[in-house]
Amino acid sequence: MKELIERALDGAQRGGAEYADVRVVRREDETLTVKNGALEAATSNDSAGFGVRVLVNGAWGFSASAVLEPAEADRVAAEAIEIARASGRAQRTPVELDDTPPATDTYRTPYDEDPFAVSLDEKIRILLEADAAMARVEGVAIREGTMVAGRERKTFASLTGAWIEQEITEAGGGIEATAVNEVEMQQRSYPNSFGGQSVTGGFESVRALDLAGHAQEAAELAVALLDAPQCPSGEMDLVLDSTQVALQIHESCGHPTELDRVFGTEASFAGTSFLTTDRLNQLRYGSELVNIDADATARGGLGSFGYDDEGVPAQRVPLISAGILVGYLTSRETAPRIGRRSMGSARGWSWNSLPLIRMTNINLRPGDAGSLEDLIADTREGIFMSINKSWSIDDRRLNFQFGDQAGWLIRNGRRTQLVRNPTYTGITPQFWGSCDAICGPDEWTLWGLPNCGKGEPVQTGHVGHGAAPARFRNVKVGVGRW
Ligand SMILES: [Zn+2]
Repeated sequence: MKELIERALDGAQRGGAEYADVRVVRREDETLTVKNGALEAATSNDSAGFGVRVLVNGAWGFSASAVLEPAEADRVAAEAIEIARASGRAQRTPVELDDTPPATDTYRTPYDEDPFAVSLDEKIRILLEADAAMARVEGVAIREGTMVAGRERKTFASLTGAWIEQEITEAGGGIEATAVNEVEMQQRSYPNSFGGQSVTGGFESVRALDLAGHAQEAAELAVALLDAPQCPSGEMDLVLDSTQVALQIHESCGHPTELDRVFGTEASFAGTSFLTTDRLNQLRYGSELVNIDADATARGGLGSFGYDDEGVPAQRVPLISAGILVGYLTSRETAPRIGRRSMGSARGWSWNSLPLIRMTNINLRPGDAGSLEDLIADTREGIFMSINKSWSIDDRRLNFQFGDQAGWLIRNGRRTQLVRNPTYTGITPQFWGSCDAICGPDEWTLWGLPNCGKGEPVQTGHVGHGAAPARFRNVKVGVGRW
């Protein structure tokens, strides 16, 4: 592999590249699905290859191949050079990279139990145990359980002398019960609706989920939702569970702080952003309580790593500080345009994908509102919503509507009537501006979101969101005419 990398970099330099990097990546994925008491699917993927990225006269070229042979490195490097020269003819402003120093390092995800070393039988046993617990609840029509394992081994090297080897290990799992009657279909997932909880780490995190121990409660709630009254409409105080806060962060803070999106270079896929750079250090994004960091160093986060795919070390940087917009997710190309050095959020999904600005772990810091029960006790009238069901947000990331699996009315500080199909709408800065309480560190969970899509062709992103339950005042709830 050393020879392949050296030949690719030599070829790029001979071709006239002022900068070049090579990524050799092998990614393994395993997914297990158990449905209604039987193994529904067991898939595994193993993909390896390398990509060469070059900068010639300020224009990018990229090429990749699955043929991991030194001679192929010459061809791929030459092709990347050719592409850079072609795209240079259409380019107005030359790309300039920041001055991140080249690193030589290795990084390995810490874990106790290798998820790939756990037998298929053991994984299926755990899923079937949860399935059986759901099956004991009358009225559940579909029972599903999923388990995932992932491993990425990659070497990054650059013409400027970086050489970084990383091994990132991921594990995850979750369950879902679906209940149906003549008119309704209702679902309840555990522990979230992101396809389960995924982390960088080992199988110990899947065991800690105790899927079987939570299966009955999930199934009973799915059935109860069938007969629950519809969520009322009106303006009321809203308490969100940490999984819904996580998705709220993803859509209304993570995406709009992606600096390539802000500059409009990603407009084709998911729009632009209202967080324009003239608003940096000016815009009131949320209340004083709202502090949101991008933290690629968080242990266990699905968006954690040692270095990004430009060789920039993992960092923790504030995006929102006491409610004010103070930062962006950046790359080596975009950061200098706001006078900064990259905070390390450029990642490509595979060996054949160009790194884009991707979220790391975008985390809302915990507050001092105690436990979820404390927060509900502190709320006179309102509604508590739990586990996302649907979302939509406009392309500038301002106007949104979210729906959750379950809602409970809050009366005089107590969780009362269960309601189905709860939804809420808002405008990002007003919504975060109405945040007046965030639960404490004991309620804070770093959720993994394994299915963020970006780019054309679309790249998957593995990202994380740390959140605790939070309260928002006077939010438009329900399906009224808003
Ligand atoms: Zn996304």
